Amino acid sequence: MKKKLKSVYFDVVIAGGSIAGLLCAREITSEGFSVLVIEEDHEIGTPEHCGGLVSIAGLEELGIIPFKKTYEHMIEFAKITSPNGSSFTINSKKQKVVEISRRELDKQIAFQAQKNGAVIKVRTSFQEITDRGIRTNEEKIDCKIFVDARGISSLIQKDRNGILSSAQYEIYADWIKKGKVEVIFDQEKYPGFFAWVIPSNEGKGKIGVAGKGINVSETLEKILEQKGNYSTIRKIFAPIWVNGPIEDFVEGKTVIIGDAAGQAKPTTAGGIFTSGMGGVYAGQAISKFLKTNNRTDLNEYQKKWTDRFGNEFEKQVFARKILERIDNKTINKIFESITPEIIKDISEKDDFDFHTSSIIKLLGIKGSIKTAQALIGGELKKLLD
Ligand SMILES: Cc1cc2nc3c(=O)[nH]c(=O)nc-3n(C[C@H](O)[C@H](O)[C@H](O)COP(=O)(O)OP(=O)(O)OC[C@H]3O[C@@H](n4cnc5c(N)ncnc54)[C@H](O)[C@@H]3O)c2cc1C
Repeated sequence: MKKKLKSVYFDVVIAGGSIAGLLCAREITSEGFSVLVIEEDHEIGTPEHCGGLVSIAGLEELGIIPFKKTYEHMIEFAKITSPNGSSFTINSKKQKVVEISRRELDKQIAFQAQKNGAVIKVRTSFQEITDRGIRTNEEKIDCKIFVDARGISSLIQKDRNGILSSAQYEIYADWIKKGKVEVIFDQEKYPGFFAWVIPSNEGKGKIGVAGKGINVSETLEKILEQKGNYSTIRKIFAPIWVNGPIEDFVEGKTVIIGDAAGQAKPTTAGGIFTSGMGGVYAGQAISKFLKTNNRTDLNEYQKKWTDRFGNEFEKQVFARKILERIDNKTINKIFESITPEIIKDISEKDDFDFHTSSIIKLLGIKGSIKTAQALIGGELKKLLD
């Protein structure tokens, strides 16, 4: 016999109990509206699909003071390596970047949202939009607004073009140094992206890789073989989105936020801050709309996010196009042209969240190197606009 579905009501239902969805829930409930967050996994924050790198300024803007359990440690250096093995190191102390535990961070935001009155249900998945709201695997829920915060799984259904596969292993290895992130470029091994090491502590951290059309687990195993001894604690495989924001964040009564709206950085796929801010801005706009019933208030969300990140994301998309086009020889040449002054300038002035200014300096666009200019000519102007 078919089970009869019961019907309930919330002002807003949010599918996806991760950073964007939970921040959105926190904002809406702070204005007294009822919110249900449904999360298909069995635990908030798990499985963790993240390196956990975020700026302190970003966390502050998201309204999060990390708990002791969340805060892992400060990143002081970033070592960038070219295909031929030459490297330079940026001192990132001034950029105030930390490595945090996403498991704990997401739980901390869940707690903030719950304290404001949000109801959170795990092992509950969004199935479809109905006339009066949505349907989960358990019941029909009526709501005024549905928020899609399902991350990249939502984008995969719409557009596979900007998606790369990634693998990230949590490992113990004595060659992992506390406070030092590593980024390794090699267009033959990791086309269009890079490999990374993010320490969690001395001898412990995450190593990952992404790239176009590669077998990420085989590639990562090869990197590990070359690095030395290690023990694997956890493996994750997850898609990343590198094409920037989708066109419309609001479609009828559906509001799309976070990675589902393409709000992760096109250069690094980092989205704690930018996708999180999508959740914050959307939450504020939805609360206003629920008070006024004026759609202009709802659309304010896209305007606010675009005013804050639109220009930087456009530049990052161009920087990504450049990376997709150049070969190892060109990257090696670019590395050769990087002077101690450029490194000092980046270390002292640049911003982790708005980092195209660093890319411009590294590419030597302001004068010194001709190779990159000759290869990528027209695109460069767009990066500088
Ligand atoms: C390997 C890797 C490393 C990364 N490292 C960093 C980093 O160091 N720094 C950084 O800033 N960013 C990093 N990111 C990106 C960052 O993790 C994301 O940008 C961020 O988590 C996006 O948050 P979100 O809330 O939009 O979506 P997600 O975190 O993807 O959450 C979506 C949620 O929706 C749930 N869901 C999906 N379908 C349904 C459904 N039908 N019903 C109910 N729930 C559903 C999922 O279970 C999930 O919990 C990394 C990503 C990857 C893959």
